[in-house]
Amino acid sequence: MQKLVTVANPSPLRKQFDYLWPESWPAPRPGERVLVPFGNRRVVGLVTAIRRHSDVDASKLKAVVQRLDDDQPAIGKDLLDLAQWSARYYHHPLGECLQQMLPVLLRRAETPKAATLTAWQLNPEIADLPPLSKRAHQQQALLAAVTEHGQLSKRQIKAMGYTGDILNKLIRGKYLQACTPIPPPPPTADRPLTLNEEQHCAVQAVVGGLGAFNRFLLEGVTGSGKTEVYLQVIAECLQRGDQALVLIPEIGLTPQTLARFERRFPGQVSALHSGLSDSERLNNWQAIRTGERQIVLGTRSAVLSDFARLGVIIVDEEHDPSYKQQDGWHYSARDIAVKRAADWQCPVLLASATPSLDSLYNTQAGRYQHLKLVNRAGQAQAPTLRLLDIRQQTLEQGLSPLVIDQLSDNLRQGNQSLVFLNRRGFAPLLQCHSCGWMADCDACDARMTVHFRRRELRCHHCDARKALPTHCPQCGNTSLIYDGPGTERLELALQQHFPEAPVIRIDRDTTSNKGSMTNLLTDIQQGAPGILVGTQMLAKGHHFPDVTLVAVVDIDGGLFSPDFRAAERCGQLLLQVAGRAGRGDKPGTVLIQTHCPEHPVLLDLVQRGYSEFAQALLGERKLLNLPPCGYMAVMRCDARQLDQAMQFLQQVSHHANGAVPGCDVIGPLPAAMARRAGRYRASIIFQSSQRQRLHQALDLAIAQGERQRRKADLRWSVDVDPLEVF
Ligand code: ADP
Ligand code: ZN
Ligand code: ZN
Repeated sequence: MQKLVTVANPSPLRKQFDYLWPESWPAPRPGERVLVPFGNRRVVGLVTAIRRHSDVDASKLKAVVQRLDDDQPAIGKDLLDLAQWSARYYHHPLGECLQQMLPVLLRRAETPKAATLTAWQLNPEIADLPPLSKRAHQQQALLAAVTEHGQLSKRQIKAMGYTGDILNKLIRGKYLQACTPIPPPPPTADRPLTLNEEQHCAVQAVVGGLGAFNRFLLEGVTGSGKTEVYLQVIAECLQRGDQALVLIPEIGLTPQTLARFERRFPGQVSALHSGLSDSERLNNWQAIRTGERQIVLGTRSAVLSDFARLGVIIVDEEHDPSYKQQDGWHYSARDIAVKRAADWQCPVLLASATPSLDSLYNTQAGRYQHLKLVNRAGQAQAPTLRLLDIRQQTLEQGLSPLVIDQLSDNLRQGNQSLVFLNRRGFAPLLQCHSCGWMADCDACDARMTVHFRRRELRCHHCDARKALPTHCPQCGNTSLIYDGPGTERLELALQQHFPEAPVIRIDRDTTSNKGSMTNLLTDIQQGAPGILVGTQMLAKGHHFPDVTLVAVVDIDGGLFSPDFRAAERCGQLLLQVAGRAGRGDKPGTVLIQTHCPEHPVLLDLVQRGYSEFAQALLGERKLLNLPPCGYMAVMRCDARQLDQAMQFLQQVSHHANGAVPGCDVIGPLPAAMARRAGRYRASIIFQSSQRQRLHQALDLAIAQGERQRRKADLRWSVDVDPLEVF
């Protein structure tokens, strides 16, 4: 009988397709890649099932064109199951989930070339070649370097500052020849630290849970030695011959963190981050799959790696929003981590100084075991937090007199300070003092930010740019004012105030080049006195042992956002920044400037600490049935006209509202900032106290969405467990 296969294609259709499988081919296997005709193209799809019958008439079925995986299928059973589960849970097309699991090079039909030889050595017959010109200084120097090292990889050569051109000249002249790179011998491993009592208990608990699905929440203040706990748990896991997965937030994967893991486990760590080339990614992927690499350290997408035998999963800074993918497949890497631990029957350790309300709720429900580290490791003391009432104070570029005094004292004592403001650029608003005109973005319902040094206005929502005007475009007056501070303005103000001290700004604008963060931080890490100023980039992953003073310029924005998670976010960010102070052996102080020193959220945080603050917020969520005490999903739509988006959602809502008892359908409502990058956005919210109900309502909504004729220019998507409602 004719063999048939079901294939998931990379397509936004929530549907799979049957194809004929040629008789003469070896038996099809689930998870293998195939080239199939799809519309008028050919695409790389994945076999998800093997069947004897199709609902489609056999005469209408097309045949698979080519098998693409000769040895094992590209996607193993475990990942295939995960993709199928994800497609149901996140209501996302299966083909697109599977695509994201595949390394880029395997998404194409051509077999990727084996990694090319990338090291270069001297041609043994160099003596027979005409000598290099004396004036070719660079070539001479590179040749000397290769002679000295025996061989050098292209990467090493680049790192030494030679251009590809210099290298190519030596290759063309046959002075150098390709060779197999010899990996550098692993350095000797760092020895584990002696654990303190709390760390010891945490390690014992997780190690005791190896070999079975056990969930832990490790709540440990910043600097309490969580990383040391991870390292010792991993050592035990490796002892048993299993692999470990460590997830790190997007900007938390610093060279510092990576180096710490590599020093402890030389040659065993596979780091997955955005800086890798496609072929490096593929190599890593394969090494993880065969079990050759034991430790995977990576950001969000590392949770989709294909493991040989996974023994433990660790999610560092589990509260971090970067674990949630914000476009396409809206998965949460933290939640998928827990799912994978269940599949592999291994423990998962979620850790943070400021755990998410979701995880705290799970500990209360008895699902997660709560481990705590309440003391800082070594000698460090917890920092003191103080609210500074800045009402009616004269601010100098956003800084109150007391903050300036303290910065000055701190410098005099040879210490470092950190000034935090989560807003980059020079000023968030450009306004005409004469007629009131404001610089708006043409494509968004938003103001443009002044970037003074570049003489530019930039929209932080769509990245539109304009030259900074010198006259008001409306009345021609030159009395333009820059309103409010940004990090660039603070940097300038601090430089003027403290001309003798280095002022280092860390934000997306100063660190966009590779390696620039490391360069900027070199002096600070060596302990030289100075002032750091920056956005939340400073709040994550970095260890600044000599920072003793943290000044928070403006936190009020976070207190008055309409988003139900805003207060939680604000508290987490504040404590993460505060945690940068006094991590070494000097005590730290945190000064928080605010216009609302009586705000209960701030008072809870400062006077009673994170746990109580979080409990109060959880109480509110419970009352309102909001996540994590209830379940939520959002359907978003965007179009060229607001009407189109609203009409589409109106019909969906009409269909889904009331159809499933116990699931509320709210909206459609336009987004708070309706227009972004020229498109109007609106959404419907689904809310229920039972997850099952939520899924049923979503199924109905999606079916209705798919039935509606797609206007060419309309896009919609579904987000389960959303971070934001718009
Ligand atoms: P966290 O990850 O909780 O922020 P780290 O693991 O980075 O904390 O530890 C903070 C500092 O304390 C590091 O410099 C680390 O080397 C040190 N440390 C951690 N555990 C110990 C220990 N048991 N004894 C001495 N120092 C420790
Ligand atoms: Zn004007
Ligand atoms: Zn814009």
